[in-house]
Amino acid sequence: MSSPDTLEQIAVEIKTCTACRLHLGRKLAVPGEGPADADLMFIGEGPGFHENEQGRPFVGAAGRFLEELLETIGLTREQVFIGNVIKCRPPGNRDPQMDEIEACSGFLERQIQTINPKVIITLGRFSMARYFPKARISTIHGQAKWIRSRLIVPMYHPAAALHQPSLREVVRNDFARLPEYIEQVQDQDVVQEEPPSDPQQLSMF
Ligand code: SF4
Repeated sequence: MSSPDTLEQIAVEIKTCTACRLHLGRKLAVPGEGPADADLMFIGEGPGFHENEQGRPFVGAAGRFLEELLETIGLTREQVFIGNVIKCRPPGNRDPQMDEIEACSGFLERQIQTINPKVIITLGRFSMARYFPKARISTIHGQAKWIRSRLIVPMYHPAAALHQPSLREVVRNDFARLPEYIEQVQDQDVVQEEPPSDPQQLSMF
């Protein structure tokens, strides 16, 4: 019988992965970071310039905003897992393409299975589409949905709020609801979720 995954094993595989074209331009892959038993898991889009340089998620301006948001609910980034849909930087920070998301989805799925978080917060439309295909983030942001016994909370990507100042208050308000959601899941035993949605269903609006 094979031994269970660890985050370290998954990260080793990510760092040497050549499953999609994004490995050609990466400096460092970004597996994600945080405790293996984190209750909260944040899933963003993919590495940007600074992440590619450092091999760590959310270390640029969007990362600083995410840390600020976590602070507003009494958390630090060390207490949560922070990862991305894709682990290597797309050239020029373009959107990830469908075949790249599909090629990378096994790593994210294994991370989720290993961490087994009680709450998953999707940041931006690409991670949202994994759970809410065809939904619009402007319609469902901040609204938690039970998927089996895990709460999935779609939110705007912090970078979107930095580019569009009117979204900052929206994101802050969505974050302010997280303690309530965390409270809701405290006594829940998490049942592992179904495999990811068919990537072909992702909404590319
Ligand atoms: S983005 Fe994902 S699938 Fe593509 S090379 Fe990097 S780790 Fe592999």
